[in-house]
Amino acid sequence: MLTLNQHPTGRHFLQIPGPSPVPDRILRAMSLPTIDHRGPEFGALGLKLLAGIQRVFQTEHPVAIYPASGTGAWEAALANTMSPGDLVLMYETGQFATLWQKMATRLGLKTEFIAEPGTCEQTGLPFSWRRGVNAALIAERLRADTGHQIRAVCVVHNETSTGVTSDIAAVRRAIDSARHPALLMVDTISGLASADYRHDEWGVDVAISGSQKGLMLPPGISFNALSPRALEVSKGARLPRSFWAWEEIVEMNKGGYWPYTPSTNLLYGLHEALEMVLEHGLGTVFARHQRWAAGVRAAVNAWGLPIQCADAAVYSPVLTGVVTPAGVDADAVRKLIHARFDLSLGTGLGKVKGRMFRIGHLGDCNDLTLVATVGGCEMGLKLAGVKLAGSGVQALMDHFAEHPSAHAV
Ligand code: PLP
Repeated sequence: MLTLNQHPTGRHFLQIPGPSPVPDRILRAMSLPTIDHRGPEFGALGLKLLAGIQRVFQTEHPVAIYPASGTGAWEAALANTMSPGDLVLMYETGQFATLWQKMATRLGLKTEFIAEPGTCEQTGLPFSWRRGVNAALIAERLRADTGHQIRAVCVVHNETSTGVTSDIAAVRRAIDSARHPALLMVDTISGLASADYRHDEWGVDVAISGSQKGLMLPPGISFNALSPRALEVSKGARLPRSFWAWEEIVEMNKGGYWPYTPSTNLLYGLHEALEMVLEHGLGTVFARHQRWAAGVRAAVNAWGLPIQCADAAVYSPVLTGVVTPAGVDADAVRKLIHARFDLSLGTGLGKVKGRMFRIGHLGDCNDLTLVATVGGCEMGLKLAGVKLAGSGVQALMDHFAEHPSAHAV
C-alpha cells in the first residue's frame, strides 16, 4: 500500500501553481466504482459533463476532453489544424510559451517567436517574461504578412512560469485590425476556472486547458475548446493525428461517449468540480482568486521584494512570482521552506530559474491557508538571510481584514 509518510502531522501545504490542492468532495466523488464507459449511465454523465465544461469555457461550441495532461492538448490543437511546414506566430511570455514553441517545431511547423525586446534593469530578467503579450507587436507582424503565410497566433493566457495573465481580447483585436485570417490559439491551462476566460466572446479558435489547476482536479485530463472555424480548418489540415483527432471525438460526444476509454474516475471528479464552480458562479470564482492574489501581492510588497509580473494591469489571479535579491538562490529558499515547514512552492523555470519562486493561490485554499503559506515563506526568507522590509503576514492579514470575502471562501 502506498504511504506518503514524509508529512508526519497535519496537512502538506501544496501551494504550487498546479497541481492545486484537491477538495475532499472531489476526491470522494472519484472513489465511486468505475462503470462501463459504453453503458447508459456513462452516456448521461458524459452529456452532463460536456454541457458543464462549455459553461466554464463560456462557449456554445464543442469541447474535446482528452485522457492526457495539458501537453497532450497543446499537441492536439496543432495537430488538428496545421499542415507540415505551416508558419505559426507565438509569443514568448515565459517557459510554457517556450515549451509550446519547441513542440510546434518538433511537429514540423515553422515558428516565429516574438517578444518585447530588452531586459529589466531592476531584476536583470527578460521584459517579455515580466509583462505578457504586447498585442501591438502581433498586429504589426500580421500586417507585414501580406501573403497570409501565418496560419495561427498562439499565446498563453495565464503564463504559469511568471504569474502574468495576458489580454486575449486585445490579441483578437490585433488579428482583426490586421484583417488577417490566422487562427487564434490560447493556452489557458492555468487560467480556466480561476482567471476570467471567454472563449466565444474573445473569438478564440482553439483553447487548451487542463484539469489540475483552477478546476481543482488531479492531473490527467485536458481540453480543447473549439470554434466552428477551427473545426472547418481541421478538415484540410495534414499533420498526422489519430488519438487527438477532433472529428471522431465530437461525433461520439453527441451521445456522451468517447472513441476510446476515457478516464472514468477523473470524469467523476470533473462532474463534482463543475458542480462546485457553477454552484458558486464563475464571477464569484474569479473574484475569489483576485482577492487572494491581491493579498499575496500586499505581502510581497511588504517584504520589499519585486513581483515577477511588472505590469499591474496583467497580474495573475492564480499565482504570484517572488523575485529574490541578487545573490540569493530562490530555489535554495524554496527547498529550505519545504524541508522546514512542509510547504511546496513553485520553482523558477527556464530563464528565471534561481531568480524567483512562485506562490500558487488556487484550488482548495482559504484565507488561513494563505496566511500560513505567506508565514512559511516569510520564515524561510529570513532563515535564508534575506533582509525583509516588513511583515508580509501582517500585510496579508490586514488585506483580508479590510477586504472581507463577499461569499464564504
Ligand atoms: N501550459 C501551461 C500554462 C502550464 O501551466 C502547464 C503546466 O503547468 C502546461 C502548459 C503543461 O501542462 P502539463 O504539465 O499538464 O502537460
